[in-house]
Amino acid sequence: MTEKERQQQSVVTLDLEGVLVPEIWIAVAETTGIDELRRTTRDEPDYDVLMQGRLRILAEHGLTMSAIEEVIGRLSPLPGARAFLDQLRDRTQVIILSDTFEQFARPLMRHLGMPTILCHRLIVADDRITGYELRMPDQKRQAVKALRNLNYRIFAAGDSYNDTTMLAEADAGFLFHAPDNVKAEFAHFPAFDEYDDLLDAFTRLL
Ligand SMILES: [Mg+2]
Repeated sequence: MTEKERQQQSVVTLDLEGVLVPEIWIAVAETTGIDELRRTTRDEPDYDVLMQGRLRILAEHGLTMSAIEEVIGRLSPLPGARAFLDQLRDRTQVIILSDTFEQFARPLMRHLGMPTILCHRLIVADDRITGYELRMPDQKRQAVKALRNLNYRIFAAGDSYNDTTMLAEADAGFLFHAPDNVKAEFAHFPAFDEYDDLLDAFTRLL
């Protein structure tokens, strides 16, 4: 790293689910006892098919937006996540880039001290989720690209396939809590499982 690079301002971008909080749909499945909600992109690679299925299941069980928000509000961040995030935000600006929806994220952000999050939005009518709207495709990568255009250096961390374009676009990218298949396929990204190690890696770059 050159001295000039070291003096440049930086932003850390973090994935949410799997990195700071549990997988939201799996947690909702566990809390509500609706096992069908455990399906993820690993079981159904077509995201729209998966989401339409989830919305149908929610409708069948009569789960309202407010009921789901309450379930999500009872979820806790992963152990150590809040302390890690607080320490990181003490050192630099942090933006969470997530493919979740703002209605789901809101109660979790309260547990995390209201960091900035960029994500998608559910379409809600009369307290029922009727659809979803992806703000744009590949938004994590686009956000990193836009921030780099604002002359920031970007350091990023995520746990899964939907993070890898963000990690590649950043000045430095790390895998965190990644499953073995992701670690093997993207072995060029350093991988960590402890918050202290990730915090050290970011701190060395700041
Ligand atoms: Mg994730």
